[in-house]
Amino acid sequence: MERTSVLVVGGGLVGLSAAVFLAHQGVDVVLAERRPTTSLHPKARGLNIRTMELYRQVGLEDAIRGTDSARTLAANNGFAVLESLSGKELAPFRQEYMSGGAEVSPTGWCLCDQDEVEPLLAKRAVELGADIRFGTEVLDVVEDESGAVATLSTGQIRADCLIVADGAHSRLRERWGITSSGPGTLSRTISVYFKADLREALGDRRFILAYVNNAEVRAALAPVDNAHRWLLHVPYFPDKGQSPEQFDERRCAELVRAAAGIPDLDVEIVQVLEWEAAGRVADTYRHGRAFLAGDAAHVMPPSGAFGSNTGIQDVHNLAWRLALVTKGADPKLLDGYEAERRPVGVHTMQQAVARSKDRPRVGREEEANAAATIVPDHLVQLGYTYPDGDFREPDGQPGGRVPHVWIGDNVSTVDATEFQLVSTKQWPEIEGVKRVKADPGFAESVLIRPDGFVAWTSAGSSHDPADALRKILNGG
Ligand SMILES: Cc1cc2nc3c(=O)[nH]c(=O)nc-3n(C[C@H](O)[C@H](O)[C@H](O)COP(=O)(O)OP(=O)(O)OC[C@H]3O[C@@H](n4cnc5c(N)ncnc54)[C@H](O)[C@@H]3O)c2cc1C
Repeated sequence: MERTSVLVVGGGLVGLSAAVFLAHQGVDVVLAERRPTTSLHPKARGLNIRTMELYRQVGLEDAIRGTDSARTLAANNGFAVLESLSGKELAPFRQEYMSGGAEVSPTGWCLCDQDEVEPLLAKRAVELGADIRFGTEVLDVVEDESGAVATLSTGQIRADCLIVADGAHSRLRERWGITSSGPGTLSRTISVYFKADLREALGDRRFILAYVNNAEVRAALAPVDNAHRWLLHVPYFPDKGQSPEQFDERRCAELVRAAAGIPDLDVEIVQVLEWEAAGRVADTYRHGRAFLAGDAAHVMPPSGAFGSNTGIQDVHNLAWRLALVTKGADPKLLDGYEAERRPVGVHTMQQAVARSKDRPRVGREEEANAAATIVPDHLVQLGYTYPDGDFREPDGQPGGRVPHVWIGDNVSTVDATEFQLVSTKQWPEIEGVKRVKADPGFAESVLIRPDGFVAWTSAGSSHDPADALRKILNGG
């Protein structure tokens, strides 16, 4: 029977990122994706600061910023609230959405369509040695004491561990009886991907999203290329007798014209996608040797663009653990995945839910009032959640993402992909730790984990970095 160290189930943004991160860490990985190709829809487009930091580490940043969508949308940020694209502004433009953070990171936001990111991830994973199999469905998984046997549509494979990134309707999660918690379904939406020349109506505005609100349509309009390609997200309400079937091409074109504010607009409908915005987090991220990640572990409304970003960051947290365990570290190291990532999933989902309730109200009579619970975007991305449930500015405390400090020519503290001891002091050699002679800025000496998190600092600690490393590798 075939063998692999890690089998990744699902090749969406999260599964493909897992394959890249694992292969980059030298782990033998097979990915099985049942679709014949990568996504054809540009749906998830906002790659946040932290995700771009991770793609920078694996040599993908330039390729992503070089795509058509990233170049075209490089100057887009914020959201507008309009009567229609040609109509009046209903509320002031909010620029902070998908911007800022440049001073706290070596990189920044990137808008890039999912149908352009996924092929780049697949290509990079293969370059790094991953085995990516499209048109391959995982039908069943059975565990025994020495591993798991997966039945694929093409044959059987034995794996030491699995990353289950098979999406919001994860069949494996359901089969294992893993329950989820959260507010559940919040709204249902039809996403209309269409072509129309809206250059004149758009003018020189460069937003990410415009909420449009008039007598004929209430929806969110997103430019794909600031010219001819667009997305219109239209909510529908089953309790008012509405169903997705009512959104045929004719109806979608009518809605597009109403959102544009141009009754005779020439419209071509490319694709119509139905989805539900929901808030749910799996009650456990683990089943034996299998680890849930991405939408299989958590779903959240798109407001904030946290969904796939959180999933990509999940599998980054798993990759270095799996890499060390496959090289002989204590399997308890894997326990840290759920302990660290599930609270992030819960709190990020709550932030997305608060935003989804807040945004559509902007500019209407009941002005946004969820604002009290909303923390700034960059804190959700980089501030993580400490045991007290707080998001904080990266402050160099162990357990948080290391503050960004330049420690070499275009090398940041956050670029670490192996254990690194950054210090101007001469510490004794520690096996498995790279020593970097530089001033980390926020403490005399800092031990950084392979995922760019602070493992230990000399500030206020009586232990030395070797003790800290031992504790981590023993699952502490
Ligand atoms: C309109 C919209 C806009 C969004 N915008 C953003 C955004 O800007 N930023 C953001 O971060 N998030 C965004 N999201 C959320 C984002 O799309 C999801 O969080 C993300 O795509 C989830 O990725 P995933 O890889 O976990 O799951 P999926 O993309 O669902 O991938 C799962 C894959 O697993 C495959 N699969 C399932 N079962 C099997 C099996 N048994 N065997 C093999 N393969 C299998 C499926 O075919 C699928 O390809 C948006 C979502 C929507 C709907």
